[in-house]
Amino acid sequence: MEYIGAIDLGATKVTAVIADINGNIVIRLKEAIQTEGNKFTPWRDGIGYHKIADQLISMLRRAISESTVSGIKAIGIGSAGPLSDGAIINPPNIKLRRPSSACATAPLYVPLVDPLVAEFDCRVALENDCTAAILGEVYYGAGKDVKDKRSLHLVYVTLSTGFGAGVWNGRLLRGKEGNAAEIGHFFVKEDGLRCGCGNYGCAEAYVSGRGMEKNARMRMVNEKLGCQSNYGAALRSLALAAAEKEGFAKEVDLYPWQLLNFITPSIIFAAAHAGDRLAQAVIDDSCRYGGIALANIANAYDPQIITSGGGIMLNHPQLLARIRDEMVKHLNVSAPKVVLTPLGEHVVEYGAIVLAWQLVSCQP
Ligand SMILES: [Zn+2]
Repeated sequence: MEYIGAIDLGATKVTAVIADINGNIVIRLKEAIQTEGNKFTPWRDGIGYHKIADQLISMLRRAISESTVSGIKAIGIGSAGPLSDGAIINPPNIKLRRPSSACATAPLYVPLVDPLVAEFDCRVALENDCTAAILGEVYYGAGKDVKDKRSLHLVYVTLSTGFGAGVWNGRLLRGKEGNAAEIGHFFVKEDGLRCGCGNYGCAEAYVSGRGMEKNARMRMVNEKLGCQSNYGAALRSLALAAAEKEGFAKEVDLYPWQLLNFITPSIIFAAAHAGDRLAQAVIDDSCRYGGIALANIANAYDPQIITSGGGIMLNHPQLLARIRDEMVKHLNVSAPKVVLTPLGEHVVEYGAIVLAWQLVSCQP
């Protein structure tokens, strides 16, 4: 039996697995991403941060020795982007501190492919996490039983820290630089909130976890931090409790705006559950603009099924029906089925497994 290595590199956690061609995972290791310490060197036209590649190497080495497989034929990686030629470039979601000696405008790279090739002497494929996820869905998830993949039309949508999609329309939709199906940056609202990409009114600025936080913060500022009315009061008290728990109560006391730093998606959901109308409005926005974005991608690709995953979606699956209902209002194609991914939190891992098997010319 032959085996491959597969990696899901998220914003805060990394998972390494060893799997066979049937997608049977023989071992799975999960760790927090190492972002502490200074392992920077000049790299291409900027600087390279090497701790993450070191971590991937040591995880795969450990996985090989603990699973007692004789070795791996290839490695697939599904990673948070943006990607550039085997590396992550200027990662917006992985929190890295630039060395003070580095030029502030020099690109910051996280090299992934070259270090793994050098260590394991095998081929390594890297794709962004949504592209990997749609491959996982096609071969091991919702598309598993469809023999002729050319007849399959599938969209995968992740709702987590970010909001992204992967498209299979008889084949993988990649685009000229592998950045196709950027659903998070579909324009959904005139004069909308500013997105992490710099534009205004992107879907991600409302739908994603980061967007929800920003939307809640802007609304709290407009409501004078939830002091004046019941609108925002539960959000305020939950954020205060979080600040206290983390030892920042005094700081918030001195500088009330610091309170906004403690608003997270889980606090927004808890406040909405407690009846806070401000938090509910933030979730309403997420579902509305998420539904519009889904309709746009469905109108473009006419899929049979849209599957969805990602931390926020999997923890709050009730969002899916609301997003679907909004989507249906804007469709000009017959409505696709909208379901949670059957692969749950492992969808990117399965995509990375497909990437690795494709390198050794095996179709799973
Ligand atoms: Zn954007």
